[in-house]
Amino acid sequence: MAYDPENIFARILRRDIPCDTVYEDDFALAFHDINPQAPVHVLVIPKGPYVSMDDFCEKAADDEIAGFFRAVGRVARDLGLSEDGFRMLANSGANAHQEVPHLHIHLFGGKPLGPMLVR
Ligand code: 5GP
Repeated sequence: MAYDPENIFARILRRDIPCDTVYEDDFALAFHDINPQAPVHVLVIPKGPYVSMDDFCEKAADDEIAGFFRAVGRVARDLGLSEDGFRMLANSGANAHQEVPHLHIHLFGGKPLGPMLVR
């Protein structure tokens, strides 16, 4: 799947539309999800144009991958999620119901999150 530069997270990165920013550095932007599914629900996205996790892992440079995952860990720590625990999730493709075709990691926390999947 080709990257769509008009997807909503590309527009957030270009500041075409606003977001509630939690953290930003050269590799990542983190912001609150517009429709939170937990007391804390933050999205962390890479700055580069990657559709999904497998696109990112195939095409991104090593420093982008390292920088992105360091940012994910830092955001979880900064939000105070590390002590009580949190869940990170990246939907990839149709079976996972990925809605926005720009890689994003969901960070959920702030309460016990229940089982991983509903059967
Ligand atoms: P997906 O299903 O692709 O893994 O998750 C997409 C997420 O993006 C959803 O949780 C949805 O609420 C969130 N989202 C969609 N549009 C916007 C937006 O314009 N701003 C923010 N902050 N979150 C959005």
